[in-house]
Amino acid sequence: MEEGLKVTFLGTGTSQGIPIIGSTHPVCLSNDPRDKRLRVSVLVSWGEFNFVIDCGPDFRQQMLTNQVRRLDGVLFTHEHSDHTAGIDDIRPFFFRQGDIPIYAHKRVVKSLKKRFDYIFEEKDKYPGAPSVDINLVETGKTLELGGRIVTPIEVMHNRLKVFGYRFGGFTYLTDVKSVDEKELEKITGTKVLVVNALRIEPHHSHFNLEEAIAFVNKVKPEKAYFTHISHLLGFHEEVERSLPNDVHLAYDNLTIQI
Ligand SMILES: [Zn+2]
Repeated sequence: MEEGLKVTFLGTGTSQGIPIIGSTHPVCLSNDPRDKRLRVSVLVSWGEFNFVIDCGPDFRQQMLTNQVRRLDGVLFTHEHSDHTAGIDDIRPFFFRQGDIPIYAHKRVVKSLKKRFDYIFEEKDKYPGAPSVDINLVETGKTLELGGRIVTPIEVMHNRLKVFGYRFGGFTYLTDVKSVDEKELEKITGTKVLVVNALRIEPHHSHFNLEEAIAFVNKVKPEKAYFTHISHLLGFHEEVERSLPNDVHLAYDNLTIQI
């Protein structure tokens, strides 16, 4: 069934992005555009609505490249800088549209308030600063965005609780190391699953490639895409060739329809 969702991978890289500044690693020196990865984020669009999941340090460039003219909200997975550091660049949207809705766990809001205090200032706010409309995300409580029900999925990034989001047939999970059975039930039947696959070697807070493939086999979506990729995973072309059918590496600016 056509759900009318359009998903654009704005960034598919891990925290430093690819290439890493100053690195001479062959993947960082690759000329394949699919080996250039900005910090991880997706744009989820339907009808007139545009939502982004996370707002990392490459947000401005991602909005320009994809010519995003209107932003209906930012859903945060967690507070780490590679997912939040671009929030100041919501300013052009704020100037045109007013307060920009953000959706985040209360711990994430607390962290944003500390790091971007001027955005949340109530008195004597600097006139050029953006403002946001805070919506708290809680486990077990669905969100309604642009007439659609969105289900937060609680997953573990080592010991940190992180949210993924399910929009009907589309589920986006990043920075995952484990998912408990109860949360797993919330994503059964998803058609397209996006999940992190950092590298070949194990990592304390991310799925490596083997764990990501095992997770896909458990969820059994029609199609899966891997994201939050380190240069240590290898060249896009080679890794892509090694993957099972209907499992792909995402790459920046890839667009899928659900
Ligand atoms: Zn991350």
